[in-house]
Amino acid sequence: MSKKVPNRILLTEEQMPKQWYNVRADMPTQHAPYINPRTMKPAAPEDLTPVFAEELCKQEVSLERYIDIPEEVLEYYKLYRPSPVIRAYQLERLLDTPARIYYKYEGSNTSGSHKLNSAVPQVYYNKKQGIARITTETGAGQWGTALAMACAYFDMPLRVYMVKVSYQQKPYRKDIMETYGANVFASPSDTTEIGRAILAKDPGNTGSLGTAISEAIEMAVSTPNTRYSLGSVLNQVLLHQSIIGMESKAQLEAVDEYPDYVIGSAGGGSNLGGLMSSFMQDRLTGKAKPYFIAVEPSACPSFTRGKFTYDFCDVGHITPLAKMYTLGSSFIPTSIHAGGLRYHGMSPVLSQLYHDGFLDEARAVGQKEVFDAAVLFAKHEAILPAPESAHAIKAAIDVALECKERGEAKTILFGLTGNGNFDLAAYADYNAGKLENYAPTDEDIAKSVADLNFEPQL
Ligand SMILES: *Cc1c(COP(=O)(O)O)cnc(C)c1O
Repeated sequence: MSKKVPNRILLTEEQMPKQWYNVRADMPTQHAPYINPRTMKPAAPEDLTPVFAEELCKQEVSLERYIDIPEEVLEYYKLYRPSPVIRAYQLERLLDTPARIYYKYEGSNTSGSHKLNSAVPQVYYNKKQGIARITTETGAGQWGTALAMACAYFDMPLRVYMVKVSYQQKPYRKDIMETYGANVFASPSDTTEIGRAILAKDPGNTGSLGTAISEAIEMAVSTPNTRYSLGSVLNQVLLHQSIIGMESKAQLEAVDEYPDYVIGSAGGGSNLGGLMSSFMQDRLTGKAKPYFIAVEPSACPSFTRGKFTYDFCDVGHITPLAKMYTLGSSFIPTSIHAGGLRYHGMSPVLSQLYHDGFLDEARAVGQKEVFDAAVLFAKHEAILPAPESAHAIKAAIDVALECKERGEAKTILFGLTGNGNFDLAAYADYNAGKLENYAPTDEDIAKSVADLNFEPQL
């Protein structure tokens, strides 16, 4: 047996990535272009620049392989990066598996998740352009918190539309965003036309992510010098999140390891896209063949049961159309405790990679099994995971047990995207035996994808 691997693997400053990796540079097939729903033609730059900062619009369509991380962004990254790769010795022992299990832990910054990795550059590019204010939405609260932290650092005013039910159920998330200086509104709100229209019809409406996105975009495009910011799905977000995979590869190399399996939870696809990045590069360029697994909730099974077609990215239908695996933008997933995974669609890049067989497998898991895995992990590895992250834990445990059955000493890497410190209501429900597994019926899905017959003029 070779030298013992330490529990926590870090990197020196010299070893830290100074560029992001853009997986699109190595993809044999690009994802289909975004479509302007009014013209049904590919979206022009003028369609996007009123919504996003110019540099981010460029990144959205860039095919350059490496993009320099700006010095100002690197300085912020150094405040909380590298994030550790941790060898899960205790979990391995408990499972009695010959597999070696590693996880990349993104939950040790105050926002509690990987979302800060994209919030920082997004705010930086807006600031550099002279943008006066950013708007966004947040569902479970992780993205809003990350963006509030980045906005505080770059002295950028921020308006957050927070899904009303989360605003009421997660008051601490609102408090932390306000502590960092953000303006938080419960959505639907009376500050936008869309919000007022919904409230006029239904004053008790408790909101949805789709409504909050629509409100945030309306506010951005109708207010001078204001832009909108999105925390997942987009190519620019996957690009920024590549820092996760680039670090991971260097960390594993430092202990002479390379993953046979790379496993991540999938909501809009940003953490998985990020974790896979350098390993997918090896796969696409024929250097190695790691096996990639996306894990999604059975309540919102975009990859495993969705349709690969054009759809809107939001419920309010004001975004461009994207070709992706989708359950239909009218699909409202049951309220499960992994709020960050309740998105109807999936990143166009990941969708294309899945369609082409490079992202090997998607698994849908029920939240009861997910919380069983979360608590097992918390007890043995000393970190209380976010419910979203626990989807990856569940799959990693299953793969480790499959390795045990086959007597294979494989190397597993999974993404532990966040901590569960703000998710105690979910753990309380689990402890009280109140969690249930949900899955939409085939009829539900057939109904919500029935209208997806867009015919773009390419
Ligand atoms: C948002 C979130 C996710 C899912 O989003 P992706 O864009 O798919 O990464 C997963 N884990 C945590 C902790 C999150 O906050």
